[in-house]
Amino acid sequence: MPSEFRLYNTLTRQVEPFAPADGACVRMYTCGPTVYNPAHLGNFRTFLFEDLLRRVLRLRGWSVNQVMNLTDVDDKIIKRANERGLTITQVTNPVIEIFHRDREYLRIERAESYPRATEFIPQMIALVQALVDRGVAYQAEDGSVYFAIDRFPSYGKLSRLDTREVRPGARVSQDEYSKENAQDFALWKAAKEEDERTGAAWDSPWGRGRPGWHLECSAMAMSLLGETLDLHCGGIDLIFPHHEDEIAQSEGATGKQFSRFWCHGAFLLTDGTKMAKRLGNVHTVADLRENAVSAAAVRHFVFSTHYRQELNLSADALEGALNAVRRIGTFARRLEEARGGTPALAEAARIAVESARAALFDDLNAPEALAALHTFIGAANAELDRGGTDESAMQEARRAFALIDGVLDVVPEEVSVEAGLAERVEALLAERKAARARRDFAAADAIRKSLEAEGIAVEDLPTGTRWTKVR
Ligand code: AMP
Ligand code: ZN
Repeated sequence: MPSEFRLYNTLTRQVEPFAPADGACVRMYTCGPTVYNPAHLGNFRTFLFEDLLRRVLRLRGWSVNQVMNLTDVDDKIIKRANERGLTITQVTNPVIEIFHRDREYLRIERAESYPRATEFIPQMIALVQALVDRGVAYQAEDGSVYFAIDRFPSYGKLSRLDTREVRPGARVSQDEYSKENAQDFALWKAAKEEDERTGAAWDSPWGRGRPGWHLECSAMAMSLLGETLDLHCGGIDLIFPHHEDEIAQSEGATGKQFSRFWCHGAFLLTDGTKMAKRLGNVHTVADLRENAVSAAAVRHFVFSTHYRQELNLSADALEGALNAVRRIGTFARRLEEARGGTPALAEAARIAVESARAALFDDLNAPEALAALHTFIGAANAELDRGGTDESAMQEARRAFALIDGVLDVVPEEVSVEAGLAERVEALLAERKAARARRDFAAADAIRKSLEAEGIAVEDLPTGTRWTKVR
């Protein structure tokens, strides 16, 4: 069984073997949403790629400590708060609620923490101070503190920027006159009136101000995960300048490598020519719900394309995914209800698990894992048509399906495994009732024991028999 796990590292532009530094727990930081508007499906494509990644890391046998920040102070949030006469918190709180609701709808697992930028101001100030002390940051005449990129020689290593182009002497625009170098970026922004009005200003050694966006991520990542992370992820647009600047700030302050691996998901695009169709206007999770597009279908659609390839959102692609997950759901129910299998079923299950693991461990090849699942469904359906009495083959098929679906999570809710389970338990309880009626207590007991072995507790009450899933 393949156990080497390989991942594309933007830092080296290569697929490389990956393992957490401590051999046990992957410390991963994922840039989260800017919470001024509900996240769109493009954002969620990136969050789904990260959900796939964390599930595959666990399948490989590691635990995961994932941090996803919530950017709750930035220009757009302040602008909105100002327009509406609100504080930034009043703008961001409801959007954060929507984010979690949408995340749950798409079955994106909860990260271990969701720090809000505004809750880490002291850590951000300490980081700016460390950079000032080390001589790589300076306060300019406008009161803001900037990172001096020409005092950090490795600047540009992630985005492979030709740093000569951004050396002093480059054009300096009108509003950036106070910086030493046009490319220097703000660590701490001097407070303006609208920042004060909306609760977006804090005291600091450099006067009232607020953190720059890049600074937030460096401070929160290092506070919660340590100075060197295993993995840092986001959408491809974040490579420059956001991640480049995170590296500069973090490594400029600690002198240590900030993240061993950098992983970036490609963009979700929308196909303008097909927007007239029924599913054509789907851009947010709310739109998905209104159009009865299940989470399973969205996941199937997203995972049908490799995370490093651009993906086009179109009505046809969503229809295709809806049909595919319908087939998967029907199969899930059939598998739950079947009583026995054949040796060939067990063999198909083994092949499916092996192919899915090999694909997922090879730079998260979800399209191939999905293909392995569909191949398995085809083979297993043929075997189930044939009948069979092999209970262990049946169990093997169920385990294979559960393992693959545990990563992809593509069984639509209307025919979920749980629903299939309920039907099967009810059928067995009916059999048990019949056995008791004919005073065949041995058969009745055997049914009860087999249910208990599956984690189903059976209770006989005066009103009838009740069952509960205990594990
Ligand atoms: P933002 O809220 O703009 O900070 O973005 C949150 C995440 O979504 C970041 O990782 C972005 O790179 C990612 N993102 C933004 N637009 C898209 C898109 N169209 N496709 C995929 N990811 C995106
Ligand atoms: Zn970030």
